[in-house]
Amino acid sequence: MMGENGSTAAKPVYGRVLLKISGEALMGDQGYGLHPPTVNRIADEVKRVHDAGVEICMVIGGGNIFRGLSGAAQGMERTTADYMGMLATVMNALAMQAALEALGIHTRVISAIRMDEVAEPYIRRRAVRHLEKKRVCIFAAGTGNPYFTTDTAATLRANEMSCEAIFKGTKVDGVYDKDPKKHSDAKRYDRITFDEVLQKHLAVMDASAIALARDNDLPIIVFSLDEPGGFLGVLEGKGTYTIVEG
Ligand code: UDP
Repeated sequence: MMGENGSTAAKPVYGRVLLKISGEALMGDQGYGLHPPTVNRIADEVKRVHDAGVEICMVIGGGNIFRGLSGAAQGMERTTADYMGMLATVMNALAMQAALEALGIHTRVISAIRMDEVAEPYIRRRAVRHLEKKRVCIFAAGTGNPYFTTDTAATLRANEMSCEAIFKGTKVDGVYDKDPKKHSDAKRYDRITFDEVLQKHLAVMDASAIALARDNDLPIIVFSLDEPGGFLGVLEGKGTYTIVEG
């Protein structure tokens, strides 16, 4: 499973991982929607990891287009709003697929809601086979259920695909005790337990995702996606990041 490209770089620590990014990570500085250069930049980060021989799953949120809670706040029925949010994640997944395929990487978009003309349905054993064939699997439409988030979808799929860790790409290089963008004395954790994250209400992932990761011993690695080569670096144990584990 590990890289066989003959490079002198350190070997990735994990053979199969899931990369979770929020929809907002794809919008650049626009404030809404998709920013193609940003999508391409993240695709390039994924390519570096793919080239190192790591099997990659991806889950992308939909918050750059639509969030169920904001729809509900405007009077829309919550479940309808959540289905709109799930559809937003499919658009993001297709954008990422196009960017990865332009780099020569084989991919599959696998949707939790059937839409056979655009994406494969989710069939676990089939998805595992794609990974074994080094295709990047982009899981879309969340869990397929309202009242969940793509953080929970990421944890669910990472468990189902036997990923060794979830990589949560964010704008900061780990988990801090307070918002580092607002407080200059914020302290970054190198390591923190799932229970501490829950007790301290740290904004890593939502509570159901954290609990699902904790109950299945699935580490979450929080790192900055803004750092070029950051994803591969962290996989090789370099750079700064926080590992959330038991
Ligand atoms: N969503 C859902 N069920 C899921 C995953 C997502 O209903 O399993 C909906 C929900 O409305 C959510 C939206 O899809 O607000 C977008 O996902 P999320 O908020 O997780 O995106 P992110 O914050 O990661 O961009």
